[in-house]
Amino acid sequence: MLREYTQDRLIGWCRQALRFVLPIECIACGHSLSTDPVPFFCATCWQTIRPLQQPVCARCDQPFVSPEATTYTPDHQCQHCQERPPDFQRAWTLFPYLPPLREAICSFKYRGKHTLARPLACLMISALPSEIDVDVIIPVPLHPTRLRAREFNQSLLLADQLSHHLACPVSATNLVRIAATDPQTTLTRQARLQNLRKAFAVRKPQDLMEKRILLVDDVFTTGTTLNECAKTLRKAGTGPVFALTLARTVDTALVPDRFFAERAGERLTTIGI
Ligand SMILES: [Zn+2]
Ligand SMILES: [Zn+2]
Repeated sequence: MLREYTQDRLIGWCRQALRFVLPIECIACGHSLSTDPVPFFCATCWQTIRPLQQPVCARCDQPFVSPEATTYTPDHQCQHCQERPPDFQRAWTLFPYLPPLREAICSFKYRGKHTLARPLACLMISALPSEIDVDVIIPVPLHPTRLRAREFNQSLLLADQLSHHLACPVSATNLVRIAATDPQTTLTRQARLQNLRKAFAVRKPQDLMEKRILLVDDVFTTGTTLNECAKTLRKAGTGPVFALTLARTVDTALVPDRFFAERAGERLTTIGI
């Protein structure tokens, strides 16, 4: 009797311990995970992550409201890029920053789930633009203080996986962040610009001279960080700078209804004109 009781207690403790170190439920929907290939997410949720396929700005990938925006002018650029051309030549932003991808990136970045690096990089590779042709990949750097707190640079883990796929080297220490800045997500556009001014530096410009650079980051919000990195690199004498981010924050009004319909399992409703 005592033996059975001890056995049950032991199994209970083991289950608790296992639950603690290995979450067994999908972060997005709560369903139990079994043989799902992506850590922390069930295959059904992961399959709902789709690239944004709609007309976008030919420079910064900003989605256009009108589906006809690029029908007759495929190189059409958004108003912002026309008024203030960015320092990067082209930015590709592959997926909308919406659940479950948003949960995956937050878990990866803020909750130390670094095993998500590979599936997230695989997503990037699955939607990679064919025209990418660069000499060096550079992840957007973190300031040493933030790196110490987070323990890893999420952009470097993504860049490392991309490097294998593109057969292109990663430069992880040349572009550095020299100013500790406030988190960009809490600031207005003007404050973001102010916050990042002179935040980056190139340690060995001679190593990047005339090189075509691919900057890699996880999320594109306003593009201010990428633009500041591109500006710093160009001033240091690099060739054209391109940018690639896994996700982009989007106005949900611009996201096709199918995203939400699929998630909610509801029929689409259309608005008559
Ligand atoms: Zn799920
Ligand atoms: Zn644009």
